[in-house]
Amino acid sequence: LRRKLIAGNWKMNGNLAALAEIAATADAAREIAGVDVAICPPFTLIAPAVTRSGGLVIGAQDCHAAESGAHTGCVSASMAKEAGARLVIVGHSERRADQHESDADVRAKAETALRHGLTAIVCVGESEGDRAARGHVAVVERQLAGSLPDSWEEGELVVAYEPIWAIGTGKVATPADIGEMHGAIRAALVQRFGDLGDRIRILYGGSVKADNAAAIFGVANVDGALVGGASLTAAQFVPIIEAAA
Ligand code: 13P
Repeated sequence: LRRKLIAGNWKMNGNLAALAEIAATADAAREIAGVDVAICPPFTLIAPAVTRSGGLVIGAQDCHAAESGAHTGCVSASMAKEAGARLVIVGHSERRADQHESDADVRAKAETALRHGLTAIVCVGESEGDRAARGHVAVVERQLAGSLPDSWEEGELVVAYEPIWAIGTGKVATPADIGEMHGAIRAALVQRFGDLGDRIRILYGGSVKADNAAAIFGVANVDGALVGGASLTAAQFVPIIEAAA
């Protein structure tokens, strides 16, 4: 059985004072059995977050595909790991758009993260136009084919489905939409990886809040959530964790 994973993505938000929210989330999460919880703050907050994490997994929001070298401004997987990250998000739609990351780039980052024993959350998701044209499943299947590594020996592979039109908009996908896509993703994973494909957790992301989380977690093949805005405070994040228990 797949344990649910609730991962918070702070994006470019937070500061040292905000780490109190991680400590408060950890205190509450300790009382909630059966759910894995992670928070991914900006790189600069990873090390201090670990000291306040009370056992919560702290992750990074990106890593470079290379081990080291002339890549000004970038952070490698081993650097994130040394800072205390145990997980890394790769291929978020904001990075695919803002940093022009291709499926091949995302795959290379995931491979590097996994090689370092980190859990890699690989993000996929269609645009509003893709869905309007009824091409959303094909788009996500193509992203999966190009973005997922062939094997993962040390780390764990997780997929996050985040429809771009649902991110930060308050427009959450319906349970029927989520069920269709998560079913298609599961089928693609099993076709490619056999039985292992059944063990990969598939997270939903996009305007997940306390009041819609339970309905989303009730959908088949939804193994948790990747939460943006509502992960920034314990008051909003903890009820989402409770909904997954
Ligand atoms: P919101 O929860 O703010 O919509 O963000 C979702 C997301 O992009 C998480 O990675």
